[in-house]
Order: sequence, then structure tokens, then C-alpha cells
Amino acid sequence: MNGHACTAPIEFAALIAYWMGELPPAEEEPLEEHLLGCAHCAQRLAELVALGAAIRHAVRAGRLEAMISAPLLERMKKEGLRLREYRIPAGGSVNCTLRADEDGVVGRMQAALAGVKRLDVVQVTEARGEKISQRLEDIPFDPAAGEVLHFPSAAAMRKMPPTTIRMRLVAVEESGERALGEYTFVHTPS
Ligand SMILES: [Zn+2]
Repeated sequence: MNGHACTAPIEFAALIAYWMGELPPAEEEPLEEHLLGCAHCAQRLAELVALGAAIRHAVRAGRLEAMISAPLLERMKKEGLRLREYRIPAGGSVNCTLRADEDGVVGRMQAALAGVKRLDVVQVTEARGEKISQRLEDIPFDPAAGEVLHFPSAAAMRKMPPTTIRMRLVAVEESGERALGEYTFVHTPS
């Protein structure tokens, strides 16, 4: 999924109502038609669905890990979630933690995304001398946003020993791959 913009995006509230099955049929039909033809809004709905039926509960249970959009982050804050945010420039490094009274952490990786069609994340996690590498392909992003928001699982984070997480954003193009930036999170338990 790339980030093609939509000229008449479905309102967030309507998307949620649709997802909860609370839209009247007269509104549901045109909305469904729009979703079928609009990758942008379909992706927004997919983000909602990926976050589970009760955003607040799922986040508080700490089960979620996802790349999220800035509007969704704002929404979660409005829901009353206490989120620690780290804004980090390309090539930057940050010392991070999650306190007991917080619901989650968001890493806001700043990146020049204009013109990017497909975005992958290469993540290297290093703890207790052990290194694990994983690649997330074709992650959702907004080319105009200038950032990618990583929302790690709070439950996993609470159990984490001191850990260094390196995330590399990679633009995948016809001519090959282009590194957009590397972001280092040095995690310490609270
Ligand atoms: Zn749309």
C-alpha cells in the first residue's frame, strides 16, 4: 500500500462508526463504495482494524505493535492514553524508557518521505549480547507526514532488559534500495 492521497477522505468518526457497525444503512453503502475504490481510506480503516476493537483496552493491555499514523496517535491521546513520545532525527539516537504509569511509547522517526512508493523497516534488536534482525515490508506511511511513527508493544517493553533497537527506514525503488535514515533507541527499564 502506498500513500496516494484521497481528495475526499472519510471522516475518522465515520470510519470508526462503520467499523463498529453503527452506521445507518443509507450512510454505510456509499462509504463501502468509497472504500472499495480508495486505497488511502481502506488503509486508514485497516489501521483501525489492526488496532483492535477497543483501542484503549488493547493498548493498555500492551499487546499491540504497529506503525501508526499521526492522526491515530492524536486519537489515542484523546482517548486518555498516556504516551511517551520520542522525536528522533535521521541518524539520531535517544535514551528511552517506559514508566509504570504510562500506557505506551511512540518513536517518531523523522524522514524525507516525498516520492517514496514503498517503505520497509529493518530492525536490529540487541540485548544480552544477542542480536535479532527482522524486516517489516511495505509498511503504511503518509508521504507528506515527514515521519514514521513506531508504536512498540508496551507489554514486551515492560519485560525488556536493557536493549538497543536500531531501525533503518529503507525506500524500495525500481532501481534498488535507498536508506532514508537510521534511528537508535537505547532502552532502559524503569
Ligand atoms: Zn478516500
